Amino acid sequence: MALTGLDIFKLLPKTNCKKCGMPTCLAFAMQLAQKKAKLDKCPDVSEEAKQLLAAAAAPPMRLVKFGSGDNQVQAGQETALFRHEDKFYNPTVLAATISDKLTGTELHNRIEAINALKFERIGTKIGAKAIAVINESGLADAFAAAAAAVKNQSKLAIILVSDSPQAIAAAVSKTAGAMPLIASAKMDTAEAIAKIAKENNCPVVAKANSIEAISQLSEKIKAQGVEDIVLTLDGMNLRDQMFNLSRMRVLSLKKVFRPMGYPVISFVKGTSCDQQAAIATSLICKYSNIVVVDTVEPGAWLAMLTAVMNIYSDPQKPVQVEPKIYPVGEPNENSPLLFTTNFSLTYYTVESDVEASRVPSYILVVDTEGTSVLTAYSGDKLNEKIVAEAMKKFNTENLVKHRKLIIPGYVAVMSGKLEEATGWEIMVGPRESSMLPKYLQEVWK
Ligand code: SF4
Repeated sequence: MALTGLDIFKLLPKTNCKKCGMPTCLAFAMQLAQKKAKLDKCPDVSEEAKQLLAAAAAPPMRLVKFGSGDNQVQAGQETALFRHEDKFYNPTVLAATISDKLTGTELHNRIEAINALKFERIGTKIGAKAIAVINESGLADAFAAAAAAVKNQSKLAIILVSDSPQAIAAAVSKTAGAMPLIASAKMDTAEAIAKIAKENNCPVVAKANSIEAISQLSEKIKAQGVEDIVLTLDGMNLRDQMFNLSRMRVLSLKKVFRPMGYPVISFVKGTSCDQQAAIATSLICKYSNIVVVDTVEPGAWLAMLTAVMNIYSDPQKPVQVEPKIYPVGEPNENSPLLFTTNFSLTYYTVESDVEASRVPSYILVVDTEGTSVLTAYSGDKLNEKIVAEAMKKFNTENLVKHRKLIIPGYVAVMSGKLEEATGWEIMVGPRESSMLPKYLQEVWK
């Protein structure tokens, strides 16, 4: 729990010397509790109090990074149990596995298949963020060779998955500079694995089969000097896993129970790619910060990535595109001009349908605070004045010479007023964006 002003006051010198600029230590403590003052303003605070206050001020869930360069990923530092309370901050890192039993062309092809898991959805690039190398062979040399191949052939972050300290040491030596996530330390290997992690500045996964065991294990790893820890539940079915992951989240965020104050990694078991996508999506929802799957089936990946994208969007802020004129193809002064709203999903749907028509066009995106056509119209964020102003602002007068504007069929009702406000001919387009290709090819021409 965050410290109250009185808790902080107990740690201050209580001399009321005023050197901090406040009249009393209590007043300074209250300012600290509200995060309106910095502790270093008090020159007389003890080292012990400084450490206690710094520890209390740390976020309830640690942010853990792994990988290097532009492809470094981060997990954790969430603050809410439920998305509507605030938002979720660091999108779930999705990783695909590579067995160290693969060699030669098979290994090469598997790495390429994971590298190729990239998509663009409503203007955002999404894809696999990490590769989990699995020590399925049980051999340190094979594990190290597979890890080295991944490092050479992919820029994605690496997760080294083995229970053997010897295999981990061998693989870490082949991935120097890549800052892999080491998975996993168990109670009997914690010291050896933590030593490797500390020497190589890598985060470590703590693996155990109960919350109690994981909390003891994370404390043990921390005592070895490793701060960046990720937790994983071992040997549970999905139902128990979800139940315990929810308990861990509550302990971490609501109770500020430090041994649970770390992100979580989950390894998905499933026979088909559909089953894996379904299980992974459940784990993305509650509450896995990193999810590892075996499948590299693009359809399953797009479903999982879409789930991450939706859950990690800000519920109070619709995803928007910039209001402006967007050319589709290579339009000219005779090309059609359509308008739509700046809700991303609306815009990208319209854009792809216009593109499918193969009629080069302009799309005027009107600022409706990220709402869709009907929502904006019913909330008076879309009316003839707003559209007329947008046309003026983006100089449609000099963009096309035909002075015709195609409007969404759902707001046909505003065509008369819009014609009066602009002096342009208003053409009512189809209600559904999917009918735009036919409309542009047949009605516009
Ligand atoms: S400087 Fe420190 S000891 Fe002095 S009043 Fe402020 S908090 Fe109290």
